[in-house]
Amino acid sequence: MRDFGSWFGEQGSEPKEVDGSAWFECRRCGKSETVGLKAYENGDTGWYVGEEVEADETYHGVCGGSQFCLP
Ligand SMILES: [Zn+2]
Repeated sequence: MRDFGSWFGEQGSEPKEVDGSAWFECRRCGKSETVGLKAYENGDTGWYVGEEVEADETYHGVCGGSQFCLP
C-alpha cells in the first residue's frame, strides 16, 4: 500500500480515526469479523445488519458472502 501512504503524505493529512469499527457476526454461516464503520456505510463490505451501527459494538446480521447470507 505504498501508493496509498504516499497519497496521504502529499495531501498533508494522516489516515487516522476512520470512525471506528464494530464486530459483526453472520446469522447464516457463522462468519464473524471486525468491520470498519465507514466501509460498512459506504456499502463496501457486503454486510447487512438491520439497525444503526456504532463503534465497538457487536451486531448480528448477514455477511453477503454467499446466496445463503443475504437479507
Ligand atoms: Zn454469512
